[in-house]
Amino acid sequence: MHETVRKSNENLLSDVYDTPRWKKIFGPPTQTLERIGVQLCVDGMTIHKRKELKSSKPMHYVILSLPPRVRYKSTYMLIHMLVPHHLKGQAVKKYYDHAAVEMNELHRDGVCGVKVKLYGVSLDTPGRRELLQMQSVTAFYPCPHCLHSAEPGLRGQVFGGFRRYLPIVSPWRQKFFFYKGQKYEFRNVEVRGPAPLRTDESVRMMIGMSRRDRRPFMGHKGEPLLSKWVGVDWESSMCDKMHDLKCFVEMLLKGLVGRGSHGMYKAWKRDVNHRNDCRAFGIFKDFQDGENPPWRLSKQAIRLLDMRVRNIWWPHYLERLCRDHHSFWTHSEPMYKSKHKSYILFVLLPTCLHGFVAAVHNAILMIVHALRQLDGYILSISESMAREVRPGSHVADKTKVAQWGHTLVRGLVLLEGSFPVSHLNPALHHLVHYGWQTARGGLLRWVAMWSFERNNKRMKRLVRNTGTRCESSLAGNLLPLLGYSLDRSIRSV
Ligand SMILES: [Zn+2]
Repeated sequence: MHETVRKSNENLLSDVYDTPRWKKIFGPPTQTLERIGVQLCVDGMTIHKRKELKSSKPMHYVILSLPPRVRYKSTYMLIHMLVPHHLKGQAVKKYYDHAAVEMNELHRDGVCGVKVKLYGVSLDTPGRRELLQMQSVTAFYPCPHCLHSAEPGLRGQVFGGFRRYLPIVSPWRQKFFFYKGQKYEFRNVEVRGPAPLRTDESVRMMIGMSRRDRRPFMGHKGEPLLSKWVGVDWESSMCDKMHDLKCFVEMLLKGLVGRGSHGMYKAWKRDVNHRNDCRAFGIFKDFQDGENPPWRLSKQAIRLLDMRVRNIWWPHYLERLCRDHHSFWTHSEPMYKSKHKSYILFVLLPTCLHGFVAAVHNAILMIVHALRQLDGYILSISESMAREVRPGSHVADKTKVAQWGHTLVRGLVLLEGSFPVSHLNPALHHLVHYGWQTARGGLLRWVAMWSFERNNKRMKRLVRNTGTRCESSLAGNLLPLLGYSLDRSIRSV
């Protein structure tokens, strides 16, 4: 009973048990084991090495009631079922409805008095769209958490609008403003208030409207796949830090570097479109007149930044972000993992970019500072003892979380005012919700998809590893058969 015996401080978030959401679902800690909290994830993965072969979506859980040192290890994670990847809509909902029979019984009655309750759901952007039966992240209503809408652009929709989350009297809502000597420009004066959050009541109403009109209504297409699960509310869908930051870093680097000769930089050809956008929106006058983009690093700057990264003395256990005398500034291949991109955002961009693209650098500094605070910090041993938290755990001050969430929005506004607005990734909007989601459900690192992706890798290895032929053969035959037999059993029910 880790939850009962662990140390805690009422002013600090040091584990999910300190959050208002855990207290609402599970109540106070109990002396005997009466309930288990789990975090669900459904994520697609290719079973075989060839991508054209059918893939599968394992539905698995992290058991949050276990101590943090073991709960994220693959050995202690549970796999509930494998859903065939190609099924959509009602064809896939029957699997979730079938699983609901088992999960509802565990939720209401449990086993020997021990109930199993769902704390939250971790999903990447396409996965969340499918599970919640919503339109794509590039639709007019791109956000599953609030009613924020995209704005019209020259070639489609643009996904800015971060200023609407500022206080209504903020001077940063104007068409332009100055911050630390840099000018930030926007297409108009922002007069909209913050978009209202989606709640269980409003979502129910919107789904009813979409069903009546037989077309999407405010982003909703139909009933969520977990609609028959007892205890699953709209708030259980949480932002996934891993995928959000990965998209953010790729977007930033492409915009900063522009056209290159290797990796993801090879495909860049958006400068003409961005110049047309700036003319239409009346921003960045020099760029309209043919100057280089103000967010673009010069060739000499990229060479210098490349040299800075290549000259880093990398610690022994840290993977080097340069390969064959090239860093990620010129070749995107060295940063193939999500954790590489996270390291680039939190450590390398704030430090390396000193002296270049000052307006964007200001935005990155503010965003990273807020993200670091929302990610929590580790106290020293003596401080952990004094404040009664588990040594080594990430903690965040409950009273300051809202403040850091607001700082994060200000950083996003700076980025919108110094970067081409049509280049902003729609998933960047999720960062607006990090503040209240951290206050409500705890640090997003506790529910991020890193552990689930590792478990996917373990399952893939079971199929692909030719060293253990018996296990591989068994798993290779079982993976497709499981989906088939489940399908048949559902039909017979
Ligand atoms: Zn939103």
